[in-house]
Amino acid sequence: MQIKLRFMGAAQNVTGSRYLLEANGVRLLVDCGLYQERELRGRNWDPFPIPPNTIDAVLLTHAHLDHCGLLPKLVREGFRGKIYCTDATAEIAQIVLLDSAHLQEEDAEFKKKRHERESRRGAYPEIPLYTTDDAKDSFPLFSAVKYEELIPIVGVIEVTFHDAGHILGSSMIKVQLKIPTKTGVSQNGETRTILFSGDVGRWDKPILHDPTLFDEADYVLVESTYGDRLHEDSKDIDEILSEAINSTREAGGNIVIPAFAIARSQEMLYHLNTLLIEDRIPHLMVFMDSPMAINVTEVFEHHPELFDKEMVELIRRRESPFDLPGLKMTRATEESKAINHITGTVIIIAGSGMCTGGRIKHHLVNNIHRPESTILFVGYQAVGTLGRQIINGDKEVRILGQMYPVRAKVVQISGFSAHADRDELFKWLSGPKKSPRHLFVTHGEPDAAQHFADFLRKKTDWEISVPKYQDEVTLD
Ligand SMILES: [Zn+2]
Repeated sequence: MQIKLRFMGAAQNVTGSRYLLEANGVRLLVDCGLYQERELRGRNWDPFPIPPNTIDAVLLTHAHLDHCGLLPKLVREGFRGKIYCTDATAEIAQIVLLDSAHLQEEDAEFKKKRHERESRRGAYPEIPLYTTDDAKDSFPLFSAVKYEELIPIVGVIEVTFHDAGHILGSSMIKVQLKIPTKTGVSQNGETRTILFSGDVGRWDKPILHDPTLFDEADYVLVESTYGDRLHEDSKDIDEILSEAINSTREAGGNIVIPAFAIARSQEMLYHLNTLLIEDRIPHLMVFMDSPMAINVTEVFEHHPELFDKEMVELIRRRESPFDLPGLKMTRATEESKAINHITGTVIIIAGSGMCTGGRIKHHLVNNIHRPESTILFVGYQAVGTLGRQIINGDKEVRILGQMYPVRAKVVQISGFSAHADRDELFKWLSGPKKSPRHLFVTHGEPDAAQHFADFLRKKTDWEISVPKYQDEVTLD
């Protein structure tokens, strides 16, 4: 039996995760993510490298857009198999895909108008990459699995999902292939195990379990987003957070927190709740001002079985860790606007996480010029975003077409990353007792991936490579 692996994304870059595994005439696609790097976004428009109707099943590690964001296009172009993932991933992915489709539609409309005005054509068509209907068409194909449950796919292939500790429902996926003998598939015969790391989470973080460690694997694909660095200590989170809240309260301003809808917004509620219980912050009104974050929080509430023991303890002390006193979930636009009329200090959690769109922009308009308010950053701010400009200390920023002076206090907490750093990735790889036959370093910028591969070469005697986009290898 020949086993082939093809790297159709997240190979020497971070987004667009997509790997094709082919064995015994069966084709499995692991993840089907959207490219988000500006210079690679054109790949989203390319036809699939293989006909989608020849793929037997998709295995989805988790619900981040760079892992699931091209599923609607795959389905529109003919894929009819099952999309296996955990039930929490299915629920969050559907929220993410609807939001993505909506943004694609808005973008296309906006581009069309702008190009008409400028009488020119852009690099990509002025149609959405996929529509809300395309996204909805993919939903019936989702097939929920449980962690550690053995799933027979087709013929000689079995798959198990394991907790990755990265976001709610996130998985590492182990694919086992039984090598057929001359007399057929032997029950106890040779197998090959291929382990897909997905995004590796972190140890000892609140809410989620630690990443799963594995005893053995013949082939391993490991992500390397932070393969070239170490995270700062995350113990200071509560310290910085309570300091920012207390001093802003004293000054009489608001605390505005740009946060990603998945995971980070819920983590903020967790930390606020903990600080309240420990009496380290006063009772204030807290607004979760993001319909998407509210929807995702509901998914968290459906899945207490995915929480770690600290979270279980928190639930034991309060009814819900996401329902602290003073919390208001604001779905409607009018409710969101009404926040501006409240006098006295409030905490506002809103998206988008990098201030590139969404309701956060309105809250920045109302607070960024106020020296008594605080803008509190809790996530990564990419180059070129409004969030990055504010963190960089720009004295004036453009928001919704108008310039505003930055007079508010700007605070950054960097201990929140959901990705393992270099040493944590190494810890994960140190699980297996025997060396893998080959290790593929994926899902990282070229420097990070290469750096991590070199680090591993010094520490081990493994065969290691850093595959490129569209590379194909045969696994023996
Ligand atoms: Zn992720």
